[in-house]
Amino acid sequence: MEIKGNMVINPPYPNNYSPELLVLDKGEGVFLYDITGKKYLDFGAGIAVNALGHNRKDLAQTAYDQMSKLIHTSNLYATDPSLKLAEKLVSSGPYAAVHFGNSGTEAIEAAIKYARLYSHKAKGEGNHKILCFNNAFHGRSLGALSVTPNPKYQEPFKPLVPGVTSIPLNDSEALKKTLDKSYAACIVEVVQGEGGMDSLTPEFAKELNDACTDNDVILIADEIQTGLSRTGTLYAHTTVGLKPDIVALAKPLAGGLPLSATLIPEKINRLLDIGMHGTTFGGGPVTTAVAGKVWDILANPSFIKDVNDKGLYLKNLLTEMKNQYPVIKAVKGMGLLQGLELDIGADAFTDVLKKIQNAGVLILRSGKTVLRIVPPLTISKEEIKGGCSIISEVLKGVDNISKVSKGVDNG
Ligand code: PLP
Repeated sequence: MEIKGNMVINPPYPNNYSPELLVLDKGEGVFLYDITGKKYLDFGAGIAVNALGHNRKDLAQTAYDQMSKLIHTSNLYATDPSLKLAEKLVSSGPYAAVHFGNSGTEAIEAAIKYARLYSHKAKGEGNHKILCFNNAFHGRSLGALSVTPNPKYQEPFKPLVPGVTSIPLNDSEALKKTLDKSYAACIVEVVQGEGGMDSLTPEFAKELNDACTDNDVILIADEIQTGLSRTGTLYAHTTVGLKPDIVALAKPLAGGLPLSATLIPEKINRLLDIGMHGTTFGGGPVTTAVAGKVWDILANPSFIKDVNDKGLYLKNLLTEMKNQYPVIKAVKGMGLLQGLELDIGADAFTDVLKKIQNAGVLILRSGKTVLRIVPPLTISKEEIKGGCSIISEVLKGVDNISKVSKGVDNG
């Protein structure tokens, strides 16, 4: 391992991570600083996690207070912070209980297991299939990976969980041809945050609601990236009229600490027996104490209205950019989860990401060629504008190169 400037070369991490990583040192609000002191605007929020920004003294104090009192108990016992958070989550919709876990993928595992249990009990053994959508991303554990139909992630680890079918998002005909009573679950994201930023349409959401009801199939909304006000409503599924039975949450839930939640209805909860599913760490007192604070901020209607407003502001800036640079194919997303689809190859795209990073904005990729912007929700309009100007400068250069290579006459 070698540190070169602000980069670590060949860190002792597995080779599924990049051999060259920027080394970050600290954060403040919507800014991050690397080990050389260089400042970056955070347009990635630790992959849609740091919704309240960095160096939150209120969250640190809550964690400190709780750690000084009780750090861990296991799920053999309850704690006050965990109970309080559970009550808040359960009362946010038609839910009877919440299963806490430690990561998004665990929230999805729980959702799949609960849906299968329901299907076996309600419709009999064998009705275990799961419907998912092309370009979806639901996690890396084998169950969640099985509903993440990306060959790069799946192929090396086969065989996966059997009985999974994937169809294109928003394809009514494929849905009609595929979904029947042999399915236990259908799992969907409202915006495909990792897989290219396509959104579920309200029309297709209605068709999913109806098809799942008609076939007694558990509809799972993966709101791990879209949930908790990211898209300008508490849950993105309400924006498109999706009516899920189960909702999976994680990323921003505990402000950066690992915590996930799987919200389940009474019809599933009543089928569960003691010990059927569980976790050692999930829902511990520290993560849930912090999450209680985070929830009170994120679920506040005036906070949500502000996110919505800033999301529209960001979308307008990106649309202006699209009108300026033909290299931008599309603006995609909802609220403060926005993407710019670029008309360039994957390698050239990686170069663009690096250039934006060097220019002082940390930004993400979605799919192969979509720039994904997911800043802390506390970002101001001025900060959004500042970040967009930097991206615009980089894209101006890329646009000129792509015009030259395509032989476009600028004159
Ligand atoms: N589901 C969605 C929509 C996600 O975006 C992610 C992570 O990016 C996951 C599930 C998996 O979450 P985790 O990486 O915490 O396991």
